[in-house]
Formats: sequence, C-alpha cells, structure tokens
Amino acid sequence: MNKPGMLIVISGPSGTGKGTIAKILAEDSDFELSVSRTTRAPRPGEIDGKHYYFTTVGEFEKLIEENGFFEYALYNGNYYGTPVENVEQKLLSGKNVILEIEVKGALKIKDVYKNDYISIFIIPPSKEEMEKRLRERGSDSEEDIKKRLEISSAEIEMAHNYEYLVVNDTVENAVSDIKKIVAVEGLKTKRN
Ligand code: 5GP
Repeated sequence: MNKPGMLIVISGPSGTGKGTIAKILAEDSDFELSVSRTTRAPRPGEIDGKHYYFTTVGEFEKLIEENGFFEYALYNGNYYGTPVENVEQKLLSGKNVILEIEVKGALKIKDVYKNDYISIFIIPPSKEEMEKRLRERGSDSEEDIKKRLEISSAEIEMAHNYEYLVVNDTVENAVSDIKKIVAVEGLKTKRN
C-alpha cells in the first residue's frame, strides 16, 4: 500500500497570493489541491468545478446536515467548505492534499488533527503590498475589498496557530519554501 500523503493547510489574508502559490504547488504530481464548495458568486473567469463548486445556500446547508464537509466556515457573508471526499481518500492514495482555506476552518482542523498535518500561514511582504495585490485583482468591489482588509487584520492575529509562516515576497521563493517544509515534515517519524 502507498504511504499516506500529508494534509497541508495553507491560509493567509486575502491578497497575499496564497491561491497562486497553491495552484503552482498542485502542478507537482505529488500534490493535489482540494476544490472547495462556496456560496459566493463566481468572479469573471472562474470555472465551476475548477476554481470552486458554486452552490446555493440551500444546497450548502443540506450538505452540512449530511456531514458532507471536512470543514466549513462563513467568510465575508458566504459559506466556504472542503468536501469530505476531497481529503481522506486522496490522502490514502498517497497524495499530499492542499487545503487553501481561511483561519476559522483551519482551526477546526487543528482541533481534530492536532499535530498530524502541516499548517502554513502565508504573509505578504507588507500591508501596502497586500492592499495593492487585492486591488490589482480588479474583480472585487471597493466595499468587498474594505471588508477583506478588515478580515485580514483579524486573520493575521491568528497566525500564531500555524506551525510555519512563509513570506510571499516572490511566488517562486514561497513555493520553494513550502516544498522544503513538506520534505522536512515527510522525514519526521510522526507522519510515517
Ligand atoms: P475567495 O472569495 O477570495 O476565493 O476566498 C475567501 C476566503 O475563503 C479565502 O481566505 C480562502 O482561502 C477561503 N476558502 C476557500 N475555500 C475554503 C474552504 O473550503 N473552507 C474554508 N474554511 N475557507 C475557504
């Protein structure tokens, strides 16, 4: 049987570039990026089943009742959740599964998995850079950007709950740092 993969939780404030980092990591065949379900409206260019499974509130709440989520949370007025089937089976098949999720969902995983997963918090090089990246995305309204910046400040205060902090100065450096973290963690006996 394959050695089980590792669960890797990546969080960070909106505009920190964690989505780009997670996508690049997932290009490596050892990694698989979990596609979440959300009730948020798709941004221009987002594809159902690729970026998210876009879902109504009714469908999402039905799935909550049916225990269809590994974890879920409300963020900026919308539900986001990791479908249960994205995790255990994939880990057993030997893949390292990446969850790119916000902090409340990540804390629920910490309660259950204790130390048996890798948690990484991505921080932008500066607050100004984070705001610039959020605006450059060009897809969120001014009101949405303001709310995301407020949430970001609260999220940064939760960074101490993560094992690793990675600064996203350049995407290449951040991806390389995360690969090194995963390699080192893979050598630790607790995960063998
Ligand atoms: P966005 O609207 O920018 O795509 O995502 C908003 C926030 O929701 C981001 O911090 C993202 O990491 C988080 N998120 C995406 N999918 C999930 C999920 O399945 N569960 C949780 N808890 N957060 C998620």
